[in-house]
Amino acid sequence: MGGGESGVGAAVLAKVKGFDVFLSDRGEIAEKYAAMLRKWDIPFESGKHSEEKILNADEIIKSPGIPLNAPLVVKAVGKGIHIISEIEFAGRYDNARKICITGSNGKTTTTSLIYYLLKQAGLNVGLGGNIGKSYAYQVATEHFDCYVLELSSFQLDNMYDFKADIAIITNITPDHLDRYDHEMENYVKAKFRITRNMSSEDCFIFCSDDEITIQHLNKIVVKAKMLPFSQKQEVSQGAWLDGNTIRVRMDEREDCDLLVEELSLSGKHNVYNSMAAAIAGKVMNIKNETIRASLASFEAVEHRLEKVRTVGGVLYINDSKATNVDAAWYALECQNRPVVWIVGGKDKGNDYSTLNALVREKVKAIVCMGVDNSKIHAAFEGLVGSRNIIDTLSAEEAVKACAGFAEEGDVVLLSPCCASFDLFKNYEERGRLFKEAVSRL
Ligand code: ADP
Repeated sequence: MGGGESGVGAAVLAKVKGFDVFLSDRGEIAEKYAAMLRKWDIPFESGKHSEEKILNADEIIKSPGIPLNAPLVVKAVGKGIHIISEIEFAGRYDNARKICITGSNGKTTTTSLIYYLLKQAGLNVGLGGNIGKSYAYQVATEHFDCYVLELSSFQLDNMYDFKADIAIITNITPDHLDRYDHEMENYVKAKFRITRNMSSEDCFIFCSDDEITIQHLNKIVVKAKMLPFSQKQEVSQGAWLDGNTIRVRMDEREDCDLLVEELSLSGKHNVYNSMAAAIAGKVMNIKNETIRASLASFEAVEHRLEKVRTVGGVLYINDSKATNVDAAWYALECQNRPVVWIVGGKDKGNDYSTLNALVREKVKAIVCMGVDNSKIHAAFEGLVGSRNIIDTLSAEEAVKACAGFAEEGDVVLLSPCCASFDLFKNYEERGRLFKEAVSRL
């Protein structure tokens, strides 16, 4: 069920493994994927779900975009049909070593850092999950010795026997609660599915400064070797911050020391992401010099604190991927110049109060970019003054308004705290249109 990157990849793998496959998508299947299905001779339907065909399946591989409470999914479960995720399915046919990353924020950055690091070390490594090409498709068509997989909580939902060799939870803050009956506990449990089936040979890398992670760890047993990272205290194994040096320690291996100012990604959040990546590198037995050189030369992923251009002494930064409050907190936290902040979009039940201190200290003007900005006005108007907050309805308009507020030495930061769907197709489009508007200044 589902005919996007994940579903089509799973269908190809099923076909290669000799199953009688049928793919169904209630929406329109993109031409690229329809062509792929035809090429692999896989029957499919687009724009509908044929119930009797689907309910006749022995097993259903469900794409992460389809919620667990979709009527047909509920019916299939009622009939006793086993429903699994693409990752679960592909894991059955893959003996490669698997490094799996989940968390509320920092997944893509940490995944990309680790992939880059392992590539620099010369390993035969694949990249997949929520990023790039489908994992199942690669299992069907490639031969990698190891994989770095970014896993969203939706991808973890229907995983049962899958096992990560190295699992990472970057952090856990409220997000997507609409898909988890508004219960934080359900969301936390979904994230922790990444540690299922792990044994003492495997490693679990996590942030010991993250309260929600630690609270949950106190309630459960994880058999894997525990490798925490922290910016607050020294740890016996894992990574910690000692002044301006990150120290990474693992067993009897020589410690790997990294200077914070030498990391290519700036900001406190990226110190965390770099720590997680460095520990993974250490577990994979990568040389300290290679870990250091890779974390120093990695280039930022698009739409994540991406420096776009300086115009008239004003630096424009695209952090369109900051779709929740915590991500924007880190983006504001690492700014050391006055900020003109573009914020807004589709609110996911945000509580903006955690940003108050940073806004008071760093933000000189707010440009709202969204259909309904009332919550943003209510939260921040008192802090920046009513003359320094305005509403806009497009990236073009927002960038022009920012140019009006900003003076030489300022930063214009798009870090919206919200989803993009009220004005844009997705966060990528929002970031792209922002960059285009900046290029026209
Ligand atoms: P994800 O894939 O989990 O959405 P990304 O790496 O794409 O994470 O980053 C998403 C947003 O979160 C960006 O705005 C980024 O600046 C911010 N961010 C990245 N890493 C962290 C972190 N460790 N903690 C909090 N925010 C982060």
